[in-house]
Amino acid sequence: MIDRSTIWPYRDGRPGDFYYSRYDHPTGVEAERALGELEGGHALLFSSGSAASTAAVLGLLEPGKTIALAEGCYYGTSTLLRELERWGVRFVEFDQTGAPPAGADLLWLEAPSNPFLSFPDVEAAAAHPAPVLVDATASTPVLFRPLEHGADFVLHSATKYLAGHHDALVGAVVCRSEEDRDRLKEFRGRTGAVAGPDTAWLVQRGLKTLEVRVRRQSESALELARRLDAHPAVERVRYPGLGDERAARYMSGGFGGLLSFDVKGDATKVESSTELIENATSLGGVSSVLETRYRWEGDRVPKNLIRLSVGLEDVDELWADLERALG
Ligand code: PLP
Repeated sequence: MIDRSTIWPYRDGRPGDFYYSRYDHPTGVEAERALGELEGGHALLFSSGSAASTAAVLGLLEPGKTIALAEGCYYGTSTLLRELERWGVRFVEFDQTGAPPAGADLLWLEAPSNPFLSFPDVEAAAAHPAPVLVDATASTPVLFRPLEHGADFVLHSATKYLAGHHDALVGAVVCRSEEDRDRLKEFRGRTGAVAGPDTAWLVQRGLKTLEVRVRRQSESALELARRLDAHPAVERVRYPGLGDERAARYMSGGFGGLLSFDVKGDATKVESSTELIENATSLGGVSSVLETRYRWEGDRVPKNLIRLSVGLEDVDELWADLERALG
């Protein structure tokens, strides 16, 4: 049930578990319980993935600290960290498939990275003295649970697979320790970056079908990655299921629904020619979407790179759509 109250009466003059929804509300707590169970940690929902990232930086670090950020990870994370540099937190980028730089105060990995699909060396990061945060938006706890590999925090844009239907903007941080959860929860309550009850309910609903969605999306994505890889109009496909041994060691039961590929020629023509697959941003929903990332990321990505998020449609229909668009 969704409880939309913002207040709950005190009992005998004392606040109970719930008293004001900026701090906690029953629908959020239930969604956090379910996500925490899946990840093996203590989960907190935020108003978006970016709000979750902001809370991780400002809630866990002080001015003067340095974040080592996985090179080629979600573009919005590096632009956010650049924005937050004004508050005295620096960041340096590093190749997450190798050892992180000495001297960093927080390691920020992405598994797999969006849109380059590289998979981090989580053990090398866990051996570093700094706490490790893994943005596991694209793998989900169905395929990879970072806390089991020595990470301290898991971050999700729950807007993507966890909610899963392109209809909720929401983020999450899952903490290994209760102490970190309490610190971030206090920060969330003070800054007000909380997910509302309706959104939390959509996360609860999404989690109920997460496993079947992700398994099916993974199967279809692997099939499409193989077919794209063999297509004469495609230069290169990036997908962990195409021989990434590290990803195969960490991920179980599939490689996720996200892939990217470079086409020969004009990628903007291809992205605007599909009919079943929508030309839109985001990822992780039940319906497939694709887009060139150059429009957002500029020279950081090849001009001919197309990111594809595979939904639940019939794989042969998806392939027919892609084949037609590739010409
Ligand atoms: N992390 C990853 C890997 C993402 O792909 C995104 C959004 O695309 C985010 C974080 C930010 O999440 P949100 O859009 O929910 O703020």
